[in-house]
Amino acid sequence: MSTESLQAVRGMNDILPEEAERWLWFEAVVRDWLHSYGYRNIRMPLVEPTALFKRAIGEVTDIVEKEMYSFEDALNGDQLTLRPEGTASCVRAVLQHNLLYNAPQRLYYSGQMFRHERPQKGRYRQFHQVGVEALGFAGPDIDAEQILMCARLWKKLGIRDVTLQLNTLGDSASRQRHRVNLIAYFEQHLDLLDAEAKRRLHTNPLRILDSKNPAMQELIIAAPKLMDELDEAAIAHFQAVQSILTQHGVTFEINPRLVRGLDYYNRTVFEWVTTRLGAQGTICAGGRYDGLVEQIGGKPTPATGFAMGVERLLALLVDDGVEIPRTQLDVYVVHQGEMATPFASEIAERLRDANLHVVLHCGGGSFKSQMKKADASGAKLAVVIGDNEAQEQAVSVKDMKTGEQIRVGCMGLLATVHSRL
Ligand code: ATP
Ligand code: MG
Repeated sequence: MSTESLQAVRGMNDILPEEAERWLWFEAVVRDWLHSYGYRNIRMPLVEPTALFKRAIGEVTDIVEKEMYSFEDALNGDQLTLRPEGTASCVRAVLQHNLLYNAPQRLYYSGQMFRHERPQKGRYRQFHQVGVEALGFAGPDIDAEQILMCARLWKKLGIRDVTLQLNTLGDSASRQRHRVNLIAYFEQHLDLLDAEAKRRLHTNPLRILDSKNPAMQELIIAAPKLMDELDEAAIAHFQAVQSILTQHGVTFEINPRLVRGLDYYNRTVFEWVTTRLGAQGTICAGGRYDGLVEQIGGKPTPATGFAMGVERLLALLVDDGVEIPRTQLDVYVVHQGEMATPFASEIAERLRDANLHVVLHCGGGSFKSQMKKADASGAKLAVVIGDNEAQEQAVSVKDMKTGEQIRVGCMGLLATVHSRL
């Protein structure tokens, strides 16, 4: 294999140190925010049995039909898939470990997801989500809480101009009625359907409403509405969600065409959307999925959740010019000489004992070249040690900004360093 071919897989990105700082900051903010609502972390494998996603997400969905990285384990023939989303794995883990035994659960996870899509801005084959799931809660209060949570996060992050789209998918009986209506309607207009819509007409007609084909938009807009089929309980639930949002001043737009790309949703569904990321404008999406736990083999359990696309959120932060605090080195230790070197490593360890961030120069070189490295490191202080200093158990502390340098004994080192940071 030539070296040229050793590149990352298309659509899978390296996150280099400069950019990783933004990720770390984002992850810290998100973790705090999740804990402030009582959510607890759960970590699932990146690989699951293919059957899990087929069953949870639905056979006739974009993800299962054409986006999954599925393969046979060559060693034992198992059918496996790199997770395309987290909800199915999370529910699987919760059931496998019986977490719903005597209490509902508020859980979150974050990490890589994999979908074989056409790579473009905001759409990658490996991307990251933060996912939030509340299992065992039936009422509209938790749906609203999750939406309010998101609104709070946008504020915390400094993100502007995201709008909330809201819809209800009703329950299975009304969905069934709607399905029959849709099939009848689209059958009357077969000539206007594209090939994909025709193929899905009898397997998953709801998905046709999700089509982005401009030629079908007029037809879709005039299609029978699920809203007209909703039963009272679903309407009351949806109204309660809306009134809690209104109570908290969260504005929303009801979008009857919001159906989501996964089959497991019912009742409340929502998306947070921006117009600033081109076609990939949805930064966060979720909703209620009361049937999923049972579908995966558990007792009927109401549940609701959402997932954010981390790459898209970070792109928005950059677009908004949100400044993030950078992590900074406190001290760069420069040393030269037979006695100086072991003394310097001892000093570096002592500074780290005091929780300072310290780089000990490695690789030798003149004081001058080492000072250049100290400068480039961004450290606030350089600690300079020659044999002379080592002999006297002293060091020189240099302020990299002002150039001011003073010599202190070992005993006074910490106080001097702290007073200059
Ligand atoms: P889209 O309509 O953009 O394809 P989706 O409905 O397939 O999104 P979800 O399954 O709801 O997406 O995933 C939740 C969020 O994860 C999305 O709103 C988006 O921010 C992000 N996301 C989904 N797919 C990708 C991808 N391929 N690359 C980057 N982010 C993604
Ligand atoms: Mg998609």
